[in-house]
Amino acid sequence: MIEPILKGGYNQRLSRWSNLIKEPKMNVPWLSKQTISKRAKELIDGFQAMAGYEVKPPIPVEDIIERYLGLRLLYDDLTRVFRQEILGAVYVEARTICINERLFESGSEGRLVFTCGHETGHWVLHRQYANEQPKDKTNKPSIVCNPKNAKEPIEWQADYFSSCLLMPEKDIREAFEEVCAPEPLVVKNSMRDKNNAGEQPYLEQWPFIAAAMCEAGGFSNVSKHAMIIRLQDLGLLVNKTGKKMDWNSILVDE
Ligand SMILES: [Zn+2]
Repeated sequence: MIEPILKGGYNQRLSRWSNLIKEPKMNVPWLSKQTISKRAKELIDGFQAMAGYEVKPPIPVEDIIERYLGLRLLYDDLTRVFRQEILGAVYVEARTICINERLFESGSEGRLVFTCGHETGHWVLHRQYANEQPKDKTNKPSIVCNPKNAKEPIEWQADYFSSCLLMPEKDIREAFEEVCAPEPLVVKNSMRDKNNAGEQPYLEQWPFIAAAMCEAGGFSNVSKHAMIIRLQDLGLLVNKTGKKMDWNSILVDE
């Protein structure tokens, strides 16, 4: 049972305007990766102090949202509400984060949890700018997350925050040393290259590298794809093949 976000006909009120307006646009200042990473670490440290135990992966992001930040976390069919694929939304005034419940259907806990981390990123990094927006009485969401806008600074920053929150650098480095080596892993070959030198790991082996990392570090709520992006970001995995490490890279040609 989905609890209405706002008193008095939330769905009715949403449907009235959701197809009439574009997502609210918000300009945010540039933030370095280092700053975003620090803010994510501070959040974990704060939660840890409150919880009274050492927080290790899997990072309990839902607990952090509800118990530490004191926000309401709701799941709703945002694709229906907004009539387009919206992953999540933040209602700053109502202190509410809403996640698209269709992410449950995709069977990927990783994607769902990553979206929770992403909306948390908006709350931590961007809610002050939402407060600067002109107020109105329509209870519009402050931030609406459309995957089409993934490259915009506000969305990129929230994605990076989620990555740092769910995969803290210290825990990643510890797991990497256990799984691989102290040295970064360099991928030079694809199995499809006719002239590959036979040197492993191959590009197509990335899901196995990611799975081993998730297993070793306890990152059970992280997708393999998010893990492989994090490893590359931290310089632990270097892809020199010129091809992307994504699911398309391992599809078998017809
Ligand atoms: Zn977003």
